[in-house]
Amino acid sequence: MMNPPIILRIALPVPLRKVFDYLPINAAPITIGARVLVPFGNRRLVGILIEIADHSNVPANKLKSILNVLDKTSIFTEHTLSLCQWASQYYHHPIGEVFAAAMPALLRQGKTLTSNDEFLPKNITPKLTLNSEQQPALDKINQAQGFCPFLLEGITGSGKTEVYLQAIDKLMQQEQQALVLVPEISLTPQTVSRFTARFNVPIAVLHSNLNDKERAEAWYQAQQGIARIVIGTRSAVFTPMPRLKLIIVDEEHDSSFKQQDGFRYSARDLALKRAQLEQCPIVLGTATPSFESLHNMQLGRYQHIMLNIRAGGAQLPTFDIIDIRKQKLKQGLSFSLLQKMQYHLDKGQQVLLFLNRRGFSPTLICHDCGWVAECTQCDARLTYHKKKNILHCHHCEQQTRVPTQCLSCGSTDLLPLGQGTQRIEALLQEHFPQYKTVRIDRDSTRGKNKLHQLLDEVQNDQHQILVGTQMLAKGHHFPRVTLVAILDADQGLLSADFRALERLGQLIMQVAGRAGRASLPGTVAIQTHHPQHPLLLQLINQGYHAFAKDALNERAIAGLPPYCFMALVRAESMVENDPIIFLQQARELITEREGVMILGPIPAPMQRKQGHYRAHLLLQAKSRTSLQQLIAQWVTQLDSFALKGVRWSLDIDPHSLG
Ligand code: ADP
Ligand code: ZN
Ligand code: ZN
Repeated sequence: MMNPPIILRIALPVPLRKVFDYLPINAAPITIGARVLVPFGNRRLVGILIEIADHSNVPANKLKSILNVLDKTSIFTEHTLSLCQWASQYYHHPIGEVFAAAMPALLRQGKTLTSNDEFLPKNITPKLTLNSEQQPALDKINQAQGFCPFLLEGITGSGKTEVYLQAIDKLMQQEQQALVLVPEISLTPQTVSRFTARFNVPIAVLHSNLNDKERAEAWYQAQQGIARIVIGTRSAVFTPMPRLKLIIVDEEHDSSFKQQDGFRYSARDLALKRAQLEQCPIVLGTATPSFESLHNMQLGRYQHIMLNIRAGGAQLPTFDIIDIRKQKLKQGLSFSLLQKMQYHLDKGQQVLLFLNRRGFSPTLICHDCGWVAECTQCDARLTYHKKKNILHCHHCEQQTRVPTQCLSCGSTDLLPLGQGTQRIEALLQEHFPQYKTVRIDRDSTRGKNKLHQLLDEVQNDQHQILVGTQMLAKGHHFPRVTLVAILDADQGLLSADFRALERLGQLIMQVAGRAGRASLPGTVAIQTHHPQHPLLLQLINQGYHAFAKDALNERAIAGLPPYCFMALVRAESMVENDPIIFLQQARELITEREGVMILGPIPAPMQRKQGHYRAHLLLQAKSRTSLQQLIAQWVTQLDSFALKGVRWSLDIDPHSLG
């Protein structure tokens, strides 16, 4: 009798929702999770063996043999292999592309890994004596057995990091490993050195400045169990670690944990899945929990730990709402704010102004006829950058010179309308000539180390006034800043996006956390036309937690996430109506089931971007399972169904409906 054939099921980095069958080359044993080189059309691809089977639906004469086995053993651990497979199912993303996203580039290219980094023992800084809130928090984490998620909600400066460090310290004494995920922006040398200074063990840091070789080495060290602590951004969640016993997700609310294109996963959510697979505790730490995490906590899925006092002894900032209704504004700044600034500056302190809009003005308008400069590729206005004298589209990056005349009537009277950070910077330089103003946004920090250079200058008091975007809201400590101002809270209060209020609340508290960290108490001034907004008042009077509870209630009433689950299908094409036609046909493929709402198709909020017309179809369900089941069936149908020139993608648990 003939032996049954040996079929190798291989995940290949191609955008197809399937695995591929191949024959082995010889009798050499091959392990699940090892890389193999295979012929694919007229290409050679590196894939991952994920199953060994004894039959194939591919006719025997069509089956090809693999070319080479690249690894003797699995390059993943059992649990990271499972994590990738789970993620592929949950996000309905091709398994081969998931594996590709999980590996460093050199491994994708089929290179063999080694590491010759020697670890030199060093002196370490001693741990701090925990305060009466930190100690019980640490005890709870240390006592956790198996899968056990914690939401560590601690105001900025309450010493969350110290709790992480000591929880990790315990594992280091037991020869185990810990994984720390941080948002992109906060993987600064300061953060890293807080970890490296504390432990006498090899630490792998996976940040975006690593070259391919360094990245692969860090990965390899973790996989070999040499690196005992891995600190990294989003994709570090996939790092294989054979003795992983604790996962930390710092700033768990941060939106950079969600990948916004291609394989659109949430690293925070995958970290939770990973902790469940590894059967280890996971700590989600933040001063401003995401509404999802608060909801999970309310459902009893997470243990809640609160830290309410500032560990370093710094005082909490006070809030001050500036009612700008009917007020005369100077480039968006009220007289009252300018006065406050003067007061703080004259005392030798620093001031931070926050505005989430870079450039000089978001609009350039013709004073004679009302013509507005718009992007030719997007349904968007062009931002005026005065310094470079260009008009810049912040959606497709298109740049043009500023026209000298209106393109509609020929008038030369073109006016900048509205304020961006550059314009505020210019105003402040004029208004406070005796003080130095520095602008910190994406434009002013291009180039390696530019951001750190500017931040150092701020530390050294070379600048007294800081104007900046999002970038200033996270991670950095500005001990000399005693006044923080949010110039435009109305953007967040009035936005149509249902997450805008959550983001505004997080932003205000995060920005507030920058101030008064040292012995100088801080003030947070918020300019708004809605000084009576109940949730804004709740936020500043009762704090983030109370605010979030009320805002969550509004979500519950509206039936919005986290009280429902969403999936968004985006389609785009060069032909205006095709995305809608495609999504309409796609919608007709769905056998509707109870509890799943299908909304659309509708044009995307910005219908045209980079020359492509875009449309959305939104699926919304009370039950995650029914949504998942429906999509699983539907995508296989959708795959075999196409409209020429239309590309589509699926976003599970979308963060933005844009
Ligand atoms: P968080 O991560 O919550 O923002 P950090 O861990 O950065 O807070 O702590 C804020 C400051 O307080 C840091 O300067 C830190 O060194 C200090 N700190 C933390 N815990 C203690 C402690 N138990 N005793 C004294 N200082 C502490
Ligand atoms: Zn005109
Ligand atoms: Zn554009």
